[in-house]
Amino acid sequence: MSWIVSQFDRMLAFADEAVAGGYVLAIGLVCVLQYLLHFYKLSVAGREASRQRNEMNALQDDLQSVQRDRTMSRLENGILREFVAQTEIKTALELMMRRFVPHTSKGFSAFLKWNPDAQPEYEIYQSRGLSEESCRELYIDDELRQRIIRERVVVLDGSDAGFVMLWQSLTPTDRRKIRQLNLAALGDADDLAGILITTALYPPGAPQEQQVELTRRLMQSVSTDFKRFQTLEQKTHELRFTNEMLALRSIADRKFNSPLAMIQEFLNQWMKKIDADRVVLYLKNKAGEGLGKPLIRCGIENDGSIEINWKKLEDRLTEQHLADGQLKAYSSHDLDELCVERTASGAIVAPLVQQQQSIGLACFTRCDNFPFDDTQISLATWAAEYLGEVILRVLNQAIVEKEAREDSLTELANRRAFDQQIKREIQLAREKKREVSLLLFDLDRFKSINDTYGHQAGDLVLRRTAQMLKDEAREAVRTGDRVLVARYGGEEMAVLLPNVGLVGAHRIGESIRRAVDAETFSFEGRDIHVTLSVGIATCPGHADKVHELISAADAALYEAKETGRNQVVTADSLPQEQPV
Ligand code: GH3
Ligand code: MG
Ligand code: MG
Repeated sequence: MSWIVSQFDRMLAFADEAVAGGYVLAIGLVCVLQYLLHFYKLSVAGREASRQRNEMNALQDDLQSVQRDRTMSRLENGILREFVAQTEIKTALELMMRRFVPHTSKGFSAFLKWNPDAQPEYEIYQSRGLSEESCRELYIDDELRQRIIRERVVVLDGSDAGFVMLWQSLTPTDRRKIRQLNLAALGDADDLAGILITTALYPPGAPQEQQVELTRRLMQSVSTDFKRFQTLEQKTHELRFTNEMLALRSIADRKFNSPLAMIQEFLNQWMKKIDADRVVLYLKNKAGEGLGKPLIRCGIENDGSIEINWKKLEDRLTEQHLADGQLKAYSSHDLDELCVERTASGAIVAPLVQQQQSIGLACFTRCDNFPFDDTQISLATWAAEYLGEVILRVLNQAIVEKEAREDSLTELANRRAFDQQIKREIQLAREKKREVSLLLFDLDRFKSINDTYGHQAGDLVLRRTAQMLKDEAREAVRTGDRVLVARYGGEEMAVLLPNVGLVGAHRIGESIRRAVDAETFSFEGRDIHVTLSVGIATCPGHADKVHELISAADAALYEAKETGRNQVVTADSLPQEQPV
């Protein structure tokens, strides 16, 4: 125990010595050093952590940018894939514009194509959500054009947009759609093939710089495809044009009943090939100053007032063009400006020119409000030139043929045509077991008309009576061209009525006789009254050969003269001994 006590005392003594010897200071120092070391390590670790944090952030940024790029590339590829999959450039552009402007009530998009022949040089090629009026006026001034070339994509916010000329060319409704106006260049700086105008960029809601970048890249990629499309379109146009041209040209080589029928068919096909619904052909009048009456009309016919207004529109179009000599296509807006009630929605007026002389016009109209495309306009231009060259030759031939068959004074069929036709009709009546009636007319005491009023008055009476015969016979029968009205000789005329029996023929003969009797012709202020006698015979009732039928009708006519004139006599009522 005492040993323990002594040890404890020694320790106390040592502690006293240590304090005295500065041990406490050393320990303190060690502690401070330890603390400093610890603090140093802590700050190094902090720096390391912050470096790692920075690296991490940079990595995350990179990752985001890669993801963004991937999204953009995916979007770009999607649009491009869709673009190149189309066979028509207009459809391709329409699909692209649809991405930019999904709702046409909220925005618009338009593609302007460079056309060195147009004025202004950038013309609307495709549009979406833009009014027809704005499309017509759309104008890019040179300053803006240069800016588009420089910046590739120009973004104008709503207030800036108000300062460009383009704004002036838009209607108020279209202006209201603009929150932002973007203009993107297609093609190289020195070959600006087109300009895309759009009120919104793609994808919607993405930051503007991303949208601009995507648009810029899209335009760059589309540029090559656009050129390819254009070449393809040009080739297709040429091919289509050649085909249509050959088809039209072949019409002239086909056989037709008459030269006019050939022109009619040519016009009909021409009209269809340019998607028109109606065409009217006018030739210049004999004096060569104005246009004569329409020579041929093909296509749709309308009822009542629509038809009247349609004809007024055609007349106005052709009046406008008489002096011009150039083919012109009209949009519905152009037609509105003609100040006639608009019935058609588009028109082409094509002058027919022969040896640099305007000889007439073809006026095409259509109901649909689509502009005529390049192929249609080229075809209209070619066909007008072609028809201009052939039409006079064809018409001259038609005149020669007409003269060979027509009596020049009365414009009735002449004796030659009558002889041919009666043969055909009797043959047909025999084959089909049908009737055919012949009416012979002779003006009563016509010599005295010549003697009293002069030969010219006699001519006038003949012409007018011939016209009445034609009108009355066609009106009564309603079988159109099958009724033949001919000048049989002198002041004798004949009406041949296929499919009409004796009773019908008598009724018609009587109505003609009555009409002429009721008429008063006026010549140089003097009234002339004339009557006629009619003889009728029917095949097979009275005869089944041409000369027998004529003899029977002639005998009936003779009887009408003998028994008082101004009357109708049928072969039936002849005395039995008369030859049949
Ligand atoms: P009828 O009642 O018996 O028939 O008496 P008509 O005087 O008519 O006698 P006819 O038929 O024999 O006379 C025909 C006359 O018609 C003779 C001729 O001068 C006249 N004539 C024939 N062709 C023409 C013509 O192209 N122009 C004119 N002005 N007269 C014609
Ligand atoms: Mg007579
Ligand atoms: Mg006579």
